[in-house]
Amino acid sequence: MKKILMIGTGGTIASQVTENGLAPELTSAQLLAHIPAISGICEVESLQLLNLDSTNIAPRHWLEMVGCIREHYEDYDGFVLTHGTDTMAYTAAALSYLIQKSPKPIVFTGAQKPIGFDVTDSKMNLTDAFRTAASSLPGVSLVFNGKVILGTRAQKIRSKSFEAFSSINYPFLGVLRDGVLLRYLHESCEGGPVFYDQLNTKVGLLKLIPGTEQALLDYLLERCDALMIESFGVGGLPDYEGSDFCDSVCRWTERGKLVVLTTQVQNEGSDLGIYHVGHRLKGVPGVLEAFDMTTEAVTAKLMWILGQTRDPAEIQRLFYTPVAHDILWPAEC
Ligand code: ASP
Repeated sequence: MKKILMIGTGGTIASQVTENGLAPELTSAQLLAHIPAISGICEVESLQLLNLDSTNIAPRHWLEMVGCIREHYEDYDGFVLTHGTDTMAYTAAALSYLIQKSPKPIVFTGAQKPIGFDVTDSKMNLTDAFRTAASSLPGVSLVFNGKVILGTRAQKIRSKSFEAFSSINYPFLGVLRDGVLLRYLHESCEGGPVFYDQLNTKVGLLKLIPGTEQALLDYLLERCDALMIESFGVGGLPDYEGSDFCDSVCRWTERGKLVVLTTQVQNEGSDLGIYHVGHRLKGVPGVLEAFDMTTEAVTAKLMWILGQTRDPAEIQRLFYTPVAHDILWPAEC
């Protein structure tokens, strides 16, 4: 029987009703007590790393999770991390960069309703996560509502109902049906695991709205080493009366800042070359584009890359090099 380590970090799944709203209070051991049948699927040991609402999860907690998995890596066949749903996609993406090519499953799950509620998705998600961790599915994934999603491709798409996550620009890795994991895709993981322990957190995000002031862009670029700009559609920057975002971007990238154009549209990604408003940015040194990567993945990838290098050519090479199938275009097409 496979031996799995469960690592608790908090979230709704572990939450209880308090006077001030739901708060994570249950330990991993208490969560396990709700699913006694798990002993028929795998052998489980558990530890409590954090107990936070995932709104409070920060990059240093990602490094703590990596440290914990690294410390216990040889002793277990797989890992289940319970986590709040709100930032689970960021954490799953971050661990996909910080632990690459893991032959052992590292599975995130959580729930929209606490495990103690009469109507809850907690028990099914947790049980499915253990089934997945006890399978031979390598790498970082997220299991939710019967779907297995690659760690670099998950995004929270619903704030209340059970179908909380989608796989963006990539198929599901598999589904869990009647307690059986049906795998659609088979990942390879040769040469791993490779652990990283450095992040540069000076990464920011500007979501454009019609009429965004250029001063906002300058404010953020002054403070960040890398700025993602979530622009409209396939991507571009405005040049309305009196302001030209392109000028700003070029001024800051000349001083060593990095700008990544992404899109605020959920599916199909960016393609800067299509319209004049984006075309002007193509090939500008220090300006990259996300293509089909999610904002969550780009956030984590930039922190991981800038934690290793400030060399512009190396940053660009690493950014467009696929990690855990995070980018399919143009690199893999
Ligand atoms: N606020 C909660 C959290 O992210 C929501 C959840 O877990 O579903 O921790």
